[in-house]
Amino acid sequence: MADYDYDVLVIGSGPGGYVAAIRAAQLGLIVACAEGRETLGGTCLNVGCIPSKALLHGSELYADAVEGTLAKFGVKIDKVELDLAVLQGEKAIAVKELTGGIEFLFKKNKITWLKGYARFTGPHAVEVAGKPVTAKNIVIATGSSVTPLPGVAVDNDAGVIVDSTGALALDRVPERLVVIGGGVIGLELGSVWRRLGAKVTVVEFLDQLLPGMDGDIRKEAAKIFRKQGLELKLSTKVTGATVAGAKATLTLEPAAGGAAETLEADCVLVSIGRRPNTEGLGLDAIGLKPNARGQIETDHDFRTAIDGVWAIGDVIPGPMLAHKAEDEGIAVAENIAGLTGIVNHDVIPSVVYTMPEIAGVGLTEEAAKAAGHELKIGKFPMSANSRAKTNREPDGFVKIIADAKTDRVLGAWMIASVAGTMIAEAALAMEFGATSEDIAYTCHAHPTHSEAIKEAAMAVTGKPIHM
Ligand code: FAD
Ligand code: NAD
Repeated sequence: MADYDYDVLVIGSGPGGYVAAIRAAQLGLIVACAEGRETLGGTCLNVGCIPSKALLHGSELYADAVEGTLAKFGVKIDKVELDLAVLQGEKAIAVKELTGGIEFLFKKNKITWLKGYARFTGPHAVEVAGKPVTAKNIVIATGSSVTPLPGVAVDNDAGVIVDSTGALALDRVPERLVVIGGGVIGLELGSVWRRLGAKVTVVEFLDQLLPGMDGDIRKEAAKIFRKQGLELKLSTKVTGATVAGAKATLTLEPAAGGAAETLEADCVLVSIGRRPNTEGLGLDAIGLKPNARGQIETDHDFRTAIDGVWAIGDVIPGPMLAHKAEDEGIAVAENIAGLTGIVNHDVIPSVVYTMPEIAGVGLTEEAAKAAGHELKIGKFPMSANSRAKTNREPDGFVKIIADAKTDRVLGAWMIASVAGTMIAEAALAMEFGATSEDIAYTCHAHPTHSEAIKEAAMAVTGKPIHM
């Protein structure tokens, strides 16, 4: 340690970086974390997972009142009003509490927060806010930023064409919101503003929403979102936008080419993906080159090509998810400390927090077939699950994909009000190499939504009871 200021310097304090810093400190290493933002927690806590879930939850409560779900259960309210400032205030409190929580954990674990953006100046050396810092190990956890769409300039302050950060902070409910990109952000934030009263159109380049998810799930999701009132323009691309005062006019074209049309909106959300943050990091100074997609490549242990430099989270290949970044944070710290840190990238669940929620883990049916597996598939509709039926949440289903020869579960996909919680069971089962029979013969509490997983597993090789 004598030659360096720190054993470990983590660049970035998102779910990847802060978890790596805490784990490294728990393992007895001297740790610093450089963060350029005013608060710790990265995209996830400041402008991602947490504020979006606050708005999703608040807008669900509002919709329950306005759309009659509460009345159906005998809760009568004379006049329902939205106070958007209060909702935004509650969101801000949640963000403050959670980002403050990371600051507390840093102090508790004696982690030094170096305030400012870090830039490599040489091997084992960076500069933060003009000050040189050295470390034996440097972990790049700089995360990602919004991918811009050429011809559609985002201006979050003006609030007409916004990215996810702007869409989380609107001080008005737009009358007409156009969402560019039918991925996770577009559907979550599109759902928020639809529930609060906006007329929402989602423009998606591909012929289905949610690329990467199972085909049946994508089709069912589109059906449900249409039923909820989202207008979906699939196989359509946005080629440009003009803004006049508080209105935007978008130019749309069929993805396969053809006549252009225009679409007016008083708010446009650009949500076409995110790209890794490597600009300004001074990677040249250490001779580290990002790949063609701008990501930093690592080996299985999260080592980059440069000795003593590691990378995790959104800045490396793989799904851009907070829990993936967190697990990589733990693993990289354990590897630096000489232990064996492993992440099983085949079992990373993903969840879309709409209502109902959409979740999956492992292979899609399409990917499993492409990989040469012969399959047995079991499905069970939520409309036949007693708890979902009683709660009046009939939409969705559970789909278990198993290998026909070994019965081993290869993937699990579901749409259900609490799919984001249910998916943990499928992930755990897959982590332990479960067969569909293992799940089918596991006793599930009644009445729970999770019984639909058991019934879908029973449907793989036999018959579910309630169908
Ligand atoms: P980040 O969280 O992006 O953190 C990187 C940090 O590094 C940033 O704070 C940045 O300021 C800092 N930084 C960058 N460069 C430097 C530098 N040179 N020096 C110092 N600091 C630097 N994922 C989920 O799993 N569930 C969700 O529900 C979810 N919701 C989301 C909602 C939205 C609207 C968005 C935008 C994303 C959401 N995500 C969600 C994705 C999730 O936020 C990311 O996958 C996760 O934050 C990645 O963690 P990370 O640590 O790799 O990077
Ligand atoms: P995404 O990759 O999920 O979806 C982007 C969508 O935009 C795709 O469907 C793509 O086909 C479409 N698209 C691309 N160019 C287009 C164009 N010109 N016109 C129309 N459509 C176009 O990206 P996102 O929704 O921006 O989210 C970014 C990342 O953040 C994702 O990787 C996601 O993992 C993460 N995130 C996760 C959660 C969650 O876990 N619940 C929530 C929000 C964000």
